[in-house]
Amino acid sequence: MPDYTTRGLTKWPSDESLYSIYFLLFIHSLPFQSKLLWIIIGPMLKYHIWTEGCQMNFSDSLRVASTLEGLGYERAARADDADVVILNTCVVRQSAEDKATGYLSSLRPLKKKRPDMVINVMGCMVGVKDTSKLHQRFPYVDVFSPPSDPTPLLKYISEHEHRKLEEDNREKRYTWMDSDFTLPAEHKNLVAGFVPVVYGCSHACTYCIIPYRRGAEISRPPEEIINEVRSLTEQGVKEITLLGQIVDRYGKDRPDYPNLAGLIKQLHEIEGLQRLRFLTSHPNWLTDELIDAVASLPRVMPHFEVPAQAGDDEVLKNMRRGYTNAEYRQTVQRIRERIPGASIATDIIVGFPGESAEQFQKTYELLADLELDVAHLARYSPRPGTVAERHMADDVPDEEKWRRFRLLEDLQEQILTRKHAVYLGETTPVLFEEKVKKRWRGRNPTNKLVFVESESDLRGQLLPVKINWTGPWSFIGELV
Ligand code: SAH
Repeated sequence: MPDYTTRGLTKWPSDESLYSIYFLLFIHSLPFQSKLLWIIIGPMLKYHIWTEGCQMNFSDSLRVASTLEGLGYERAARADDADVVILNTCVVRQSAEDKATGYLSSLRPLKKKRPDMVINVMGCMVGVKDTSKLHQRFPYVDVFSPPSDPTPLLKYISEHEHRKLEEDNREKRYTWMDSDFTLPAEHKNLVAGFVPVVYGCSHACTYCIIPYRRGAEISRPPEEIINEVRSLTEQGVKEITLLGQIVDRYGKDRPDYPNLAGLIKQLHEIEGLQRLRFLTSHPNWLTDELIDAVASLPRVMPHFEVPAQAGDDEVLKNMRRGYTNAEYRQTVQRIRERIPGASIATDIIVGFPGESAEQFQKTYELLADLELDVAHLARYSPRPGTVAERHMADDVPDEEKWRRFRLLEDLQEQILTRKHAVYLGETTPVLFEEKVKKRWRGRNPTNKLVFVESESDLRGQLLPVKINWTGPWSFIGELV
């Protein structure tokens, strides 16, 4: 096992008293727990995080980075230079899982060369249950952590010994979230951040592995969310997106908490917060009260992510989505009546077990009629342990899944080319996030990507932009 008591510290130039004074001053500035760990593990240790998947995973990775930096770790750009390598994994489709296992395999030679390097696999590949099978399959992984929970890693690096994962324990699992969340060095200038408000999911759509891997739905206490949003805005974050698998179910598991409409009203008051968004909504919980709250709160952006998944009623029933084609259409109509010009994004799965060409046509017509702003398209991928994988044959051939996928992609391209042209010559407020080559990249209230060429530093600025060019996926404009 690595001996962290001597590593790093041996590099310390102990004979130069000046450094010792700096060191003591630095130690003094750390919180108590960090101080202890810093002394135990020594300076100069580096971490590297590889992240795949949804916004929740990206948000979890930032927290892990923040926690490790609080313990004195520095970021390493490459796994080769790191003492701790964290893989934050996604398994929502086979392709995502393949990426994680591919990257993990590529670390094997590195681990052989440097056995004291710690490999930590976290996220949905691990899940909240027994990890013994994973240990067998990847014996060179030192520690596995469930989604949104770095406790096993933190224990491992502080005690540097193998530890059994704790039981899924409601109290313990999320206690790390209470602590202050200081943005990690690489993200000090973050403009748009994510804050989880609902962990896990209890809906159990038949195709979806998330409830099995992220556990049951748990809403986060409102005070904790408010504190975190406040702390992030104090650190310069301008836009926050609240996250949950079914975010509009916020508070349903806790009668003492506000609902999502109540929560966004409270968050809206936070000074310095310029924009608030939330995702992902489920049509059945997207209430008029919530839509009205979005309509009445100027800093909550008029953008909804409401997956339809399919357009045929029987397919929707087999997916166990809990609504019909007509009900989905009504949801879109309810949004548009209350907030004309609101943008609506959807998720679609093509080639679900048993989906016939006629049934797919219903999905095609749904998108053609509704002219939504974004459609995240996926080809059905059987996921181990789900109801669909166990009881329904994956009987739509791959080429047919691809054909349906491309038909929808082409349809969206036509719709958006036409729909976006109305923005030509218009002025729209853009919050700029980062510079990509020569252009600054930002988003307008309806979440459209806008690029502007500028020599000035636009990061974090909310500025009016006149749109000069529109395409199906982005706009180009100029500052006015
Ligand atoms: N909780 C959200 C999003 C879940 S995952 C929701 O309620 O919809 C993001 C998207 O991945 C899903 O919306 C779905 O379109 C897609 N997805 C989930 N499981 C899938 C599977 N087995 N095969 C293909 N796509 C899948």
